[in-house]
Amino acid sequence: MDFSSKLLENAVHEMSQLPGIGKRTALRLVLHLLKQPNSQTMRLASALEDLRNSVKFCNRCHNISDVEVCEICTNPNRDETVVCVVEDIRDVMAIENTGQFNGLYHVLGGKISPMEGVGPQELTISSLVNKAKEGEIKELIFALSSTMEGDTTNFYIYKQLEGLEIATSTIARGIAIGDELEYADEVTLGRSILNRIPFEKSLKTN
Ligand SMILES: [Zn+2]
Repeated sequence: MDFSSKLLENAVHEMSQLPGIGKRTALRLVLHLLKQPNSQTMRLASALEDLRNSVKFCNRCHNISDVEVCEICTNPNRDETVVCVVEDIRDVMAIENTGQFNGLYHVLGGKISPMEGVGPQELTISSLVNKAKEGEIKELIFALSSTMEGDTTNFYIYKQLEGLEIATSTIARGIAIGDELEYADEVTLGRSILNRIPFEKSLKTN
C-alpha cells in the first residue's frame, strides 16, 4: 500500500494491529475517523487513553474495574462461599446477564495453553489457590469453555486444591463443545450453572 502521507500510513499501521483488522479495513476506519467531526475522534482517543491510564483490576477477583475492589466483590448480598472461575470479563458479563448466579467470580485472564506459551504463572491461578486456602470458599464452579485448554486449566486448578475442603463443579455441558461462553444464550447458560455437575463426575464421562 502506497501512502501519500506518513501520518496516514502510521495511523493505518497502528489500526491494523487490532485483531481481525487487515490493512484495507484499517484504511477505511482511519479515513472514517478523518471524515467525522474532530471532537468525536478526540473522544475516542481520550477514552482509549483514560482506559489505559486508569483501568484497574479488582484485587479480589481480577475483573476489570474502576476501583480497587469491584462492585461484585463488595456486594454484601452475594454469596462469597461460591466462586465461579472464568477466563475473562466477557464471561462475567455473560453469566451476570443470566441473573442465575449470586456468588463471586475469579477471572483467570486466559487458559493454560502450552501452544501459545501461556503457563499457570501467566494466569491468576496462585491468587485463586491462596484465596481457597483462606477457607471462605465452599464451592468452586469451573466455567471455562470446553476446549482442551479449558479442560487442562480446570484439571490443573483441581489438582492444586487437593487436601482443601472445597467442592468443585463444572457447568453442565448443554453448551456445545468448543462454544465460547459469551456466545451461549442466556437461558442455556443460566440453566447450565444451575444444573452444574461435580467436577469428578465430568472427568469420568470425558
Ligand atoms: Zn472483584
